[in-house]
Amino acid sequence: MDLGTRYLYDAQDVGGLSSAMIDREKGAAIEGGLHSCWMCRRAVSARALFCHGCGSVQPVRDLDHFARLGLERRFDIDLAQLNRQYVGFRRLLAPERFATRGAREKNHAKAHGDAFSAAYEALKDPIRRARHLLALEGSGEPVLSERDADEIGGWRAELELAGEGTDIDRIANRVTQEREVTLHRLAGVFRQGELDRAADEVARVEALDWLMDQARDRRASFPAGG
Ligand SMILES: [Zn+2]
Repeated sequence: MDLGTRYLYDAQDVGGLSSAMIDREKGAAIEGGLHSCWMCRRAVSARALFCHGCGSVQPVRDLDHFARLGLERRFDIDLAQLNRQYVGFRRLLAPERFATRGAREKNHAKAHGDAFSAAYEALKDPIRRARHLLALEGSGEPVLSERDADEIGGWRAELELAGEGTDIDRIANRVTQEREVTLHRLAGVFRQGELDRAADEVARVEALDWLMDQARDRRASFPAGG
């Protein structure tokens, strides 16, 4: 089934039933639950862009970024698949397709486009994706561990003491490598379902990014290449 058919009419299997006949369990099995079409009142799933009954554009419902883009909720997403999903949805929502529709449907279509863009931007970036996952799992805010804070502080001191641009470049290279290693470790702990450790690694990557900003600022005060 192509992307269009699958998501346009997500609620097709329950569409023939009145909403009163759909029991709670069935509703819960569909991500985001069921809603009534604003036009014809038929039941539509939260992910349906269009009502399968009357074809009208549905409002944007409350969905997490993974559900919105039809992706499995996990850290290791296939970026090519993320791109395909995003491009596919944007194509379905191209403004020219709604030229003859009323203002309400045009607004809904525009809001869907914005929601898909927000979801795409959030999932594309590994740290934003990790933070989104942690929030969905009800995990606490990532906090830099004492050990990591000491280490980052040490690197920060090295940056301040650097007497030449090349010293800063060396430190920046180490920070870049360490960021890669930490991201790799982050993927591993997510796979193992160790959310506390994932939160630690997220905080570490963010601290390394902060360190990288410091290195860039400091580097700017030295002549290039020297
Ligand atoms: Zn309808």
